Parts: sequence; structure tokens; C-alpha cells
Amino acid sequence: MRIFDPHIHMTSRTTDDYERMAAAGVRAVVEPAFWLGQPRTSAASFTDYFDSLIGWEPFRAGQFGVRHFATIALNPKEANDPRCRPVLDLLPRYLDKDAVVAVGEIGYDSMTPEEDEAFAAQLALAVAYELPALVHTPHRDKARGCERTLAVVAESGIDAGRVVVDHLNEVTVKLVRDSGCWLGFSIYPDTKMTPQRMVELLRAYGTERMLVNSAADWGRSDPLLTRATGEAMLAAGFSDDDVDKVLWRNPVEFYGQSGRLDLSDVEEPTAVDPQTGNSILRGGS
Ligand SMILES: [Zn+2]
Repeated sequence: MRIFDPHIHMTSRTTDDYERMAAAGVRAVVEPAFWLGQPRTSAASFTDYFDSLIGWEPFRAGQFGVRHFATIALNPKEANDPRCRPVLDLLPRYLDKDAVVAVGEIGYDSMTPEEDEAFAAQLALAVAYELPALVHTPHRDKARGCERTLAVVAESGIDAGRVVVDHLNEVTVKLVRDSGCWLGFSIYPDTKMTPQRMVELLRAYGTERMLVNSAADWGRSDPLLTRATGEAMLAAGFSDDDVDKVLWRNPVEFYGQSGRLDLSDVEEPTAVDPQTGNSILRGGS
């Protein structure tokens, strides 16, 4: 099983995690910029963080054979802090970098006017830099947050096929499905989605435009829940090809729209089993 985790905060994870992820089949990850758990006190604090997302972290991931990409943005929560807003002016510098495959995480946290502004401004950046956008949906008042998110996305003029709306569940799946955006699901140990609930949604809505991530960060989360979801799919009668589509080809297609997703050295060498010469693209190991 080859796995691309399209949303994980590796900065908060240990090398043990990289080791276990690589052993479980995780070969590539996208790390979205987000908040630190405590407020940043100035825009300068973002530059060191962004630099580590495109420098140190890809290097660290590479030690374990995992390909690392980033998305860059002012996150929704900190859009409300006037000390952080000036970072909007620094984003263009980062959106030019090869390791950056989308603008994100953007969207709503508490749905304030400040968040409105930062969200719209960053969707405009995604359009200007021809990058996809990773959009976080609020954890409270999910249906209303999701509706408003989709309205802002539509208003921005960005192609819906270049947007993933993330942290969806049974309440919000249909709204996003109908919008033409990609659907992101974060599988968590005890909140958000579980592997079993994810399987039910894949049964009901199919595998098109569906992305499954662990969204693992510094909180209680588990970077192996992508793998667990693949196993749950197989146990429920999905084919190896279905699993490969959801856990590999879909994220590759979505972030590939950046034109910057170079997977040459992770995709090719593992495509053929050196022992048998058989293709293992369909998840043979
Ligand atoms: Zn996140």
C-alpha cells in the first residue's frame, strides 16, 4: 500500500513517527502551515516557521525516504491577530518556491470579518500564483461554516477543482461534493472521522475527489490512520486499486495541479517489485 498523506503537521512529530509512517507505506506528505498552539507575537515568527517547512522538514523527511511538500498561508485562527496580519505581505515570496504546492490552510475558524478578509485575499493569491488551495473548515457550527466557505470560494473565481475543503464529515460531505471542490477528511483517534465512518462515506459517495489525511499535529492524533483507513477499506470489500486511488493517486492529482509535485524518486523505484518484476502500483506491499 503506497500512501500520500495530504495534510499532516510533521514539525510536531518525532522521527519515530517518520520511521513508522515509512514502514506503513507513507511515501509522501503535504505539511500545511498552521498555528503553533500558542499565539505568535509577530510576523517575523512566521518566516522562521515557513523556512523550516521548505528547508529543514523536507530534509528530515528525506532521511526516512518520505517526500515532503508544504502549503503556505496565514491560518484562519491567527488571521484575527493584528500582530500576525503583516505576514500576508510575506506570502508571495514563499508561494514562488518549488516545495510549496498550495496556498493553505486558509478558511474560517470563528467566522469573523478579519477571517473573511484574509480568506479572500489568500484565495486571490492562489489564483495569481496558479496554485491549488487547501481550505480548513471550522470545528464548531460545521454546516454553516461550510456553506459560507463554499460561497467565498465561488466568489473568488478560483476553479473549484483546484480547491480542497478539509475536515469534512457526514454533515458537510454532500455540500462540498455538489460544489465541485475536492473533499478532505481528517481521520482522528477520537474526534472528527474514524476509519470506519470514512469507509461508509466512500461507499455512499465513491472515491472521486476524495482525500484522506491524518492531520496529525501536536495534539492527540495518529499519523498511521491513513494506513488504518486503507485496511478498513480492504476489509469492507474495496479493491487494492480503490485504496491506491484514495490514498495515492487522488492526492497526487490534486497537488499535481501546482506543477511542482516532483515524485520521480519515490514513485518510480517502488513501482516494480525488484524480486518478481511485478508491478506493485496497486498496493501489493
Ligand atoms: Zn491542519
